Amino acid sequence: MEYGFVDCHCHISAREFEKDLEDVIQRTKEAGVKTLVAVTEEVGEFDRVLQLQGRYPDLVAPCFGLHPLQEGGQRSVNPQDLDAALPLFYKHRERLVAIGEIGLDFTPWCAPSHQDREDQMSVFIKQLSVAKELQLPVNVHSRSAAKVTIETMREQGISRALLHNFAGKPSVALEGVQAGFFFSFPPAVCRNHQRDKLIKQIPLEHICLETDSPALGLHKHERNEPCNIALCCRHIADVKGLSTQTVQIVTAQNALRLFPKVQTHMQHISL
Ligand SMILES: [Zn+2]
Repeated sequence: MEYGFVDCHCHISAREFEKDLEDVIQRTKEAGVKTLVAVTEEVGEFDRVLQLQGRYPDLVAPCFGLHPLQEGGQRSVNPQDLDAALPLFYKHRERLVAIGEIGLDFTPWCAPSHQDREDQMSVFIKQLSVAKELQLPVNVHSRSAAKVTIETMREQGISRALLHNFAGKPSVALEGVQAGFFFSFPPAVCRNHQRDKLIKQIPLEHICLETDSPALGLHKHERNEPCNIALCCRHIADVKGLSTQTVQIVTAQNALRLFPKVQTHMQHISL
């Protein structure tokens, strides 16, 4: 079976892609990307991601989630933000492949107060409970909060999770591996060797590919696109001393284990 790439975490509904979306999608397909697991950050994006799935049903696999930082990172998410979002999770449950992007961001200048961190935590826990209820995996952001994010998911009984752009310690990552979680790394990790030790220690069976487009590309100020996914694949292959083909196949299999609804969607394509 030809797996192609699964971009397990991208923001294809972002404004940055509105102008030339057709071209972006064309390049995505040419690069061999079969599925875009499309996460959202704010409730205002939910409609857009469903529209995109309607337009590219063989490619876009939608997730709904409230990011720990709202309004482009201006403020922490708070429980009132859930009021508009929660009914939509239930209304569109059939179309969602995961809940995300959710998580914790305790970067001091992003979440300066105790209240910010408390609010993020309560919204995170609520969304984890929705994921359990809807039997969906979670697509998770953690920054300056690696350990607490993994601990919280374990306490809440989460078994299927992707920790995207993970940058915690290898020992913390291995606690996540033990819990059955997956880890993905965007093209930005190719900029230097900072994440190599981490990538080396996480077994390939727990690694997925992502781009986090339009952010976290190879070059800091350039828009990132899903077609850049081959860069992460090659970097992981180099760090682990494996062929790019092995990394591509195993990570695609991992993605299908983690997001089983993508599998039905891919089988649908090959019919
Ligand atoms: Zn993201």
